[in-house]
Amino acid sequence: MKESMPMNIALPVRLSPNRRHHARATACRLALVMLSLTVLYPRTAVPQPSDLTIKSKEAAFRAEGKSIKNERRHTEPSGATNPRKPFQLLGQNVKSGSIERLSWAPFSGITEATPVIVVGGVRPGPTLCLTAAVHGDELNGIQIVQRIIRSLEPDKLSGNVIGVPIVNLQGFRRKSRYLSDRQDLNRYFPGHPQGNAAARIAYLFFHGIVMQCDALVDIHTASFQRTNLTQLRANALKPAVKRLTQGFGPIAVLHSKGIRGTLRRAAEAAGVPAVTLELGESHRIQPGKVEQGYRGIQSLMAALKMVDEKKPAAEASLFFHRSKWVRANDDGLFLSRVSLGEAVRAGHLLGIVTDPISEERNEILSSHDGHVLGMAINQVVMPGYRVFRIGMQTHKSVKNPLAAGGRKERQRPR
Ligand SMILES: [Zn+2]
Repeated sequence: MKESMPMNIALPVRLSPNRRHHARATACRLALVMLSLTVLYPRTAVPQPSDLTIKSKEAAFRAEGKSIKNERRHTEPSGATNPRKPFQLLGQNVKSGSIERLSWAPFSGITEATPVIVVGGVRPGPTLCLTAAVHGDELNGIQIVQRIIRSLEPDKLSGNVIGVPIVNLQGFRRKSRYLSDRQDLNRYFPGHPQGNAAARIAYLFFHGIVMQCDALVDIHTASFQRTNLTQLRANALKPAVKRLTQGFGPIAVLHSKGIRGTLRRAAEAAGVPAVTLELGESHRIQPGKVEQGYRGIQSLMAALKMVDEKKPAAEASLFFHRSKWVRANDDGLFLSRVSLGEAVRAGHLLGIVTDPISEERNEILSSHDGHVLGMAINQVVMPGYRVFRIGMQTHKSVKNPLAAGGRKERQRPR
């Protein structure tokens, strides 16, 4: 207790003996007050540093009455954090050279906590975050995150990797895309502390974890009985995001800003470069897709110099500047006639819808030249159902931002 007593206050002027006595008495009284305060308010009542960090951010946002848009605006995914210093997440220290298994729950009480695994590298480097199952029924990403975490050796890692295999544990338990209140979590980021349950969950996850990342890969699959070509969705015109997409090696990249409320769009707006990795179908674990995602992220970590593997060749990916849905116009049994990734021309036969009673067959034709980026699996469809997503490659007059040196996109031979 000695160091907390204010006995060493330097008195700036020479005092008379009476006043010196008075000053000593005041100092003693102050010390007694400090002592009683310490007894009355023990250390547990004092906010811990992590609480202070999170609360001060929230307070700042509220006080300024603005969004988090400009926070960390200039962050680049390279060497932004130093794991030699203690890295802190969710109020816990992650030592360099260690793997910490933390957990995160949006609310206290009966909410189940979801695992957050942090691999703390021994060398300085960026913090890469891998999130999966923001939609609770999308399983491929869970396996990808687990495989990446298992593959890492902290003493050979530069930076940190934060893996959250199941962000939406509520949905995962119920084999559902949605939260238990039927809201789509991926339409609520960056969230709001006073919003509905989804907005609050999004807010707490975003500020507790995502804002600690220097780069984010959010892993998804197609929804509602569709399947996706392995692809990145990214705002490829932003330099920091473009570098992430290049890190994956050759892969299809669909340029888009992302729907408002998605984790990718909110992270990017907050200065955390982010991409969505899309692969395969929901409700299934597809080993081939898991392998592709695993290799892509391994390649990304090498490109970010987080692991020592050989840097991938800077090959241009297949770049699509936009996409269009082709819808079914008939009711019946749908059978696809094309494969994911296939190049098609406008008018190309994509699939057949057959009336199960009359056996009348109706063709679904492509509306555009492009490649099949996503499609419905064979099933019963109704008119209006989105059956094929056609990605359009950059027009000859528009530069492919992913091509080395900004060269024009070479049209793929058909
Ligand atoms: Zn999804």
